[in-house]
Amino acid sequence: MSATDDGGAGQGWLVRLSRFLRARAEERTTEPTDAPSSNTVSTPPEIVLLDAVVSGMPDPMVVLDQDGRVIAFNPQAAALAPALRRGEPASIALRMPELVEAIRAANLTGKAQRIEFSARLPSPRWSEAFVAPIALSGGHGPGRAGVVVITVHDLTPIRRADFVANVSHELRTPLAAITGFIDTLQGPARDDPNARARFLGIMQTQAWRMARLIDDLLSLSRIEQRAHMRPETPVDLVGIVRQVADGLQTLAQDRDMQVEITAPSTPLVVLGDRDELTRLFENLIENGLKYGASGKRIDIACAAGSTPGGKGEAVVSVRDYGPGIAAEHLPRLTERFYRVDVGESRAQGGTGLGLALVKHILNRHRGRLTIDSKEGEGATFTVRLQSSALPLPR
Ligand code: ADP
Repeated sequence: MSATDDGGAGQGWLVRLSRFLRARAEERTTEPTDAPSSNTVSTPPEIVLLDAVVSGMPDPMVVLDQDGRVIAFNPQAAALAPALRRGEPASIALRMPELVEAIRAANLTGKAQRIEFSARLPSPRWSEAFVAPIALSGGHGPGRAGVVVITVHDLTPIRRADFVANVSHELRTPLAAITGFIDTLQGPARDDPNARARFLGIMQTQAWRMARLIDDLLSLSRIEQRAHMRPETPVDLVGIVRQVADGLQTLAQDRDMQVEITAPSTPLVVLGDRDELTRLFENLIENGLKYGASGKRIDIACAAGSTPGGKGEAVVSVRDYGPGIAAEHLPRLTERFYRVDVGESRAQGGTGLGLALVKHILNRHRGRLTIDSKEGEGATFTVRLQSSALPLPR
């Protein structure tokens, strides 16, 4: 996309703009800090026009130059990021690493980026931000003239409605089965002991499914509430992984599956919440056993690694050899209630919340999840957590 067809005029626009921003910045550095801003630098007509357009937008909007400095923004954006100042780097005011990364990616690739983010306080909110690099002359990229336009869209009403509809549906299905069987047991099957035993068994499974769903919902809400509190207790990931795998031995035997663990002989220490990390690996390993059963085995690898920035991290991957997951599903797997195959998930006793829990636990631990899979070749779920040099409590 190009904001102008006349390359030269585009350059001129930006040159005037950067002159204006530079003059503003110089003016600020020479002003006494408590003096009101003077108007010795007159605002170019392009900026007046841009300001008018941006302020007319109903959603938060910020326009940056290619160095990431703020050119224009509207009051809605100022409400989200009160530290935004014209002429200053947006990264300081935005205070959101994902958004800063998206701006960098947009500048680098010339392609629009979309990210989702959420906030807990004062009440849960979900938003999406579009980061669009707009070329002012002859394409976007290093050395070319352009701006980056950020718009934010509130997803909260849609998310709330979707979530309530999903929860209601998920609870209503087993409830309908249970009430249906109660009617049958009170009526036609009243004197049939075989039917009674069979129906009670089904009712038990359905009740268990409802309980599990409520359990997952409560866990999700508890983890979300504590999202801003980073866990501080040193825990050993290898110990947790081994314990979880032991606990799932019966399921593995039922499915006729082998679980292979490779791990260093020394602990992999991270700052974590033991219960949440246990839940995380339970979900990943259980998924491997449930969905990857046809592959007959799961490999769990625990290792010490390092981030691209050279920081130490603990890496745990859970690999199965089942049917795998088609590429189009991968980005959505951690959404609440997202399933590749709803029937299969229900048959396996799934709630559709397992990977959403994994994502939330990792967010709280400032960790990362990557999912690699090819259809027909199994799936690998890899968890990365920053390692800690603190000693394990006795
Ligand atoms: P569920 O309760 O349905 O298992 P999850 O959030 O744990 O929910 O997983 C979401 C969906 O991701 C599952 O329904 C399944 O379709 C898919 N999935 C998860 N793990 C695997 C795996 N190891 N192999 C294939 N598909 C998987």
